[in-house]
Amino acid sequence: MSENGTERDDATAADAAGGDVVTMDKIVALCKRRGFVFPSSEIYGGVGSTYDYGHYGVLLKNNVKNAWWRAMLQEREDIVAIDSAILQHPKVWEASGHLAGFTDPLVDCRTCEQRFRADHLGELACGRKPSKHPGEAEECSLTEAREFNLMFETTIGPVKESGATAYLRPETAQGIFINFKNVLQFSRKKPPFGIAQVGKSFRNEITPGNFIFRTREFEQMEMEFFVPPQEARQWFEHWLAERERWYVELGLRPDHLRMRPHEQDELSHYSTATSDVEYLFPIGWSELEGIANRGNFDLTQHAEHAGEKLEYFDQASGERYVPHVIEPAAGADRAALAFLVDAYDEEVVPGAAAEGEEAQAEETRTVLRLHPRLAPVKVAVLPLVRKDGQPELAREAYEALRGRVQAEYDEGGSIGKRYRRQDEIGTPWCVTIDHQSVQDRTATVRERDSLAQERLPIEGLAEEIERRVQAPWTTPKLDRQETTEPWIST
Ligand code: ATP
Repeated sequence: MSENGTERDDATAADAAGGDVVTMDKIVALCKRRGFVFPSSEIYGGVGSTYDYGHYGVLLKNNVKNAWWRAMLQEREDIVAIDSAILQHPKVWEASGHLAGFTDPLVDCRTCEQRFRADHLGELACGRKPSKHPGEAEECSLTEAREFNLMFETTIGPVKESGATAYLRPETAQGIFINFKNVLQFSRKKPPFGIAQVGKSFRNEITPGNFIFRTREFEQMEMEFFVPPQEARQWFEHWLAERERWYVELGLRPDHLRMRPHEQDELSHYSTATSDVEYLFPIGWSELEGIANRGNFDLTQHAEHAGEKLEYFDQASGERYVPHVIEPAAGADRAALAFLVDAYDEEVVPGAAAEGEEAQAEETRTVLRLHPRLAPVKVAVLPLVRKDGQPELAREAYEALRGRVQAEYDEGGSIGKRYRRQDEIGTPWCVTIDHQSVQDRTATVRERDSLAQERLPIEGLAEEIERRVQAPWTTPKLDRQETTEPWIST
């Protein structure tokens, strides 16, 4: 599945994930089957580690990004938004240090002709013998490691030879730093305040893989929080707690999340502290987000290279200083993958039956137990039969619902099949219109996780579903699981 075979052993991986039934292969298959994510350029044989998002994938990732924006902008008043260009002045990357130092160590294997990240050999699979790591099999012949710059180069201007070399941005953060002065001038904010951005970034990763976990084109959700230097430590702690809370509130199981402070030798030279939010993926504990105390490195660098003062003058105290920066940097695709993995479940349930029919034999259903706020579709409206006025009433209910929430109307196939389809895309509620509905304008509302059904009036249903989407939610997986590892908090 992954380029360079980064996936090693799904059984071990499932064990690593605390006994969950989920594996990366199951997620990939579900995403393809239900149109969340496809390999890109598939009709041409695909292009390594790039993916296209289908309808439900777009809705899910938009919900993740919207939840992030909401936490940054709507629920606070000290952060403003920006959307900077992907192509920036090449000097940006000189100043930021990316041109000289945004490299990973690369080794080639002369035998299998694959390339590996030298610092990830222990997690990768040998090109010939996937049960071994590169360098472990007898026939492996690895070169010395050499530094490889991850930025994609391109040319600005119509003629390649005379055009200026530019880079696709490898992170969204620099677009924030270079706009510090603009924002300070026009937003009427003063430190502590933040600038947030969501957008595409590009890295020519040596070993992409594990589906959308590591790709060469991905979306980041980054926020730079500018603070008086003496408050940096306190704001770092604040953002650790805030970001942890965000994932938990959106339903990730706390015992599948941990904060991992970086060791001294892992820290960038300018960072005084960094912690990664890690999630227990089927491939083991892996980074979801990095939260860093970046000091005044970025503003100082850009001030020097651009010859512009990037500082704050506090009129009240008469003090002039370069703010320090706390940066929570998350990935939208990685977060979407974590939510999918955490939501994935299989269970044996009684077969669904149409009204008046005998219950069917038990069957195994696959269900995405997504937080309703993240679920691509919040409610599906299903007429039991395609006659007797049921489709007409169902469409009326659907039209009222879609004015409030993302809704879907489906009248094709048996009711059991339609429920299974909605379970697999994580729809929290199915509204079934039956013959009683036509008589008394009530409908059965089936709840995805418990399968409980209740009869509610069609009038007011849209408001009720909207209210339920916004209500606090925890995954039912928590009620039944034995805890695996403790929730480690810093
Ligand atoms: P990694 O160690 O996994 O390469 P990083 O520490 O280089 O990640 P950052 O530069 O801190 O990552 O980027 C912030 C976030 O952007 C990461 O936590 C991750 O969620 C996301 N991200 C980074 N690189 C990729 C990628 N190649 N594909 C998908 N998401 C990515």
